[in-house]
Amino acid sequence: MPSRSKTPVLISLILILIIVIVLLAVFYPSILQLNIPPPKNAPETNPHPANASPASTSGPLNHSASEIPSSCGLLRVYVINVSQADAILIITPSNRTIMIDSGSGMKKNSSTNALAFLKKMGVARIDYLIATHYHEDHIGGMNSMFKDFDIGTVYDNGNCGNYSSVTEVSFQGYALSHDFIHVKTDMDMPAESCLARAQLIVAYDRPEGCWNSNKDTSNENDNSILLRLAYGNTSFLFTGDCEADCEAELLKQGTYLRSDFLKVGHHGSATSSTQPFLDAVGAEYFAISTDKARSVTDGYYHPRQASLSNIFSHDAFAQGASHTFRTDLEGDIAAVSDGSAITITAAANAAACQIFSGYSSSSVSSYGPIPALGSSCN
Ligand SMILES: [Zn+2]
Repeated sequence: MPSRSKTPVLISLILILIIVIVLLAVFYPSILQLNIPPPKNAPETNPHPANASPASTSGPLNHSASEIPSSCGLLRVYVINVSQADAILIITPSNRTIMIDSGSGMKKNSSTNALAFLKKMGVARIDYLIATHYHEDHIGGMNSMFKDFDIGTVYDNGNCGNYSSVTEVSFQGYALSHDFIHVKTDMDMPAESCLARAQLIVAYDRPEGCWNSNKDTSNENDNSILLRLAYGNTSFLFTGDCEADCEAELLKQGTYLRSDFLKVGHHGSATSSTQPFLDAVGAEYFAISTDKARSVTDGYYHPRQASLSNIFSHDAFAQGASHTFRTDLEGDIAAVSDGSAITITAAANAAACQIFSGYSSSSVSSYGPIPALGSSCN
């Protein structure tokens, strides 16, 4: 009965094989290509996924995260809730400060919010102060900036003679007592060595000195200075109030715009965020500095449905979590980069259907509805 005598040996071999497989599964899961589920106590998914992998940022103005010196820290960007206005604080990886605009001096909780935020963050000096353009909702709080903080270099768009309001003249007066640079063509900021690039961008080159009009555009919004920052694999684009003509001009010039994070132009107005521009930027994250309620008072009706619709079509919108943020709904917005990925947190969360809710205008056919948002917005 030879077959009976072999049975115990066969059983032993099978048992040894099972033990080997179990040991491999425990210690070398990748060899067996097993999918190990995350532990049950893993943190819940944030409504706004924080560490989603940024889209490819390969391009001439980025470097890889591995090229970042070990002494460099985080790049921190704060889009401050300043009503229908702009105020953005940037703290670079080696702790230099860049301030884009100052909020409005006329709108409640605008420049006061910006000042309070900077003080809360312990900022005493603004190394680089950028006035994107000469509109009150961008430079109205500058006087307070100059009074309350040590200011380094001031950048403006050079349109110093076009306006003569108290706010504008006062800003220029303060700026003249500092290192004051008119951005007349694209130029690099000497921000610091951790950043791959800190580039000031303009759609229209300007003459030397302080000019009072522009042969190419009379729309001051289109004179906005843009800023593009690149840190490791990540990149940010801040557009001021650059509108459709400005966007088209930048595209025509072939300006490198590719960025993971976009501070949306002109408070979500339908005159900005054209599809070709958003295509060129290719952002994954969007921040809109706006105030829907105040915008009605002012008659602007921002944000507009057309721009939100364009943004929506570019928003990753993974698992019901929008990558678009609004200051009026979500308060101060923080976008932090370690050079590999961007983490975004907002003071409050809003449902995606709220974020993509804006004003439409029956007089402009392109102000159509946004696509269906899915079950979370029913
Ligand atoms: Zn504005």
